[in-house]
Amino acid sequence: MPTPPAPIQMVELRTQYEAMQEEVDAAVMEVIRSGAFINGPATRDFQAGLEAFLRCKHVVPCGNGTDALQIAMMALDLKPGDEVIVPAFTYVASAEVIALLGLSPVMVDVDPFTFNLTAEQIEPAITERTKAIVPVHLFGQSCDMEPIVRLAKAHGLHIVEDNAQAIGAEYTFSDGRVSRTGTLGDVGCTSFYPSKNLGAYGDGGAINTDDDRLAERLRSVANHGQSRRYYHDVVGVNSRLDSVQAAILNCKLGRLDAYNERRRRAAGYYDAALSGLDGLLTPARLPASTHVYHQYTLRIDGDRRGALQHHLQEGGVPSMIYYPVPLYDQGAFRGTAANAIDFLPITDLLCKEVISLPMHSELDEESLGYICERVRSFF
Ligand SMILES: *Cc1c(COP(=O)(O)O)cnc(C)c1O
Repeated sequence: MPTPPAPIQMVELRTQYEAMQEEVDAAVMEVIRSGAFINGPATRDFQAGLEAFLRCKHVVPCGNGTDALQIAMMALDLKPGDEVIVPAFTYVASAEVIALLGLSPVMVDVDPFTFNLTAEQIEPAITERTKAIVPVHLFGQSCDMEPIVRLAKAHGLHIVEDNAQAIGAEYTFSDGRVSRTGTLGDVGCTSFYPSKNLGAYGDGGAINTDDDRLAERLRSVANHGQSRRYYHDVVGVNSRLDSVQAAILNCKLGRLDAYNERRRRAAGYYDAALSGLDGLLTPARLPASTHVYHQYTLRIDGDRRGALQHHLQEGGVPSMIYYPVPLYDQGAFRGTAANAIDFLPITDLLCKEVISLPMHSELDEESLGYICERVRSFF
């Protein structure tokens, strides 16, 4: 039985920590010594740092990425029954918050090669009740946003970007303007779940916008709907990024572009070593977007996926299926009044064919070589 040079994991966070251990430990101790656990200087520094990184006007830190989406939807002032368009091939959170708020998630199909929703898929789903679109920049690559922004403008729709997997990616418009994902629509939502590209050591999230009035509403909704202390104008939630997590994120934010570059290098290695294998598709790159490879996701015909996964596992190579079930087939949505869709061909196909390989910023050539050799030996 072949064995890898060192144990291989889908995500490895320890090496990254060891490379900045003194800095992180000092930042965490500083928060503990200061006692400023909630909305302290570390959180304010992170807010300003993320505003500069995203090149946007306002960042509102919050408890996690799901909260970010929920707060964004609440701040947009949507009414029960309003329709919100989401891809059917995504993580559940994108649609869950829509249903939770009594809105109707309208699920649409995605592009078979980039895995992202497109303007062509969105347009036929628009009705007079449609109020918003949630483009999810899945696996670390931007949706093709220029046509989506145009479509949203033409129909007066809000765009809430789910940027949980793509923080740091950049999209180039046809006029040459380059913007970070999350700043391409009205409001961007991201997550600092530990395995995300910018991961905390616990939960965290953020919302961003360039709109001053919307920023005020986002801040208020995230803080019990209050504009000044003990005056509550709307029903809100309590969602905060704690100072310890902010201090850790402050250490990592300056390194995020370098982390993403290392992921891109690993993806380039995979692309070169795994292209041209019969029946295996490497992930497509959208020319207008950089890719930050939150996941490196292949397609293999559904009959052979289980066997490939087993073959990898036998050789000590972990893999994951993101995502095995279309949103419309999840128990939470199946047969509900909120969900009129029960089949979309590309989403159905992708759920049967996708398989993600180990991807993180610390994959070395030895591990990559071993993983690719193991994949190739299956064919
Ligand atoms: C991780 C993730 C979320 C939710 O983030 P949490 O911090 O776990 O709540 C939402 N959408 C997508 C696409 C994600 O990958």
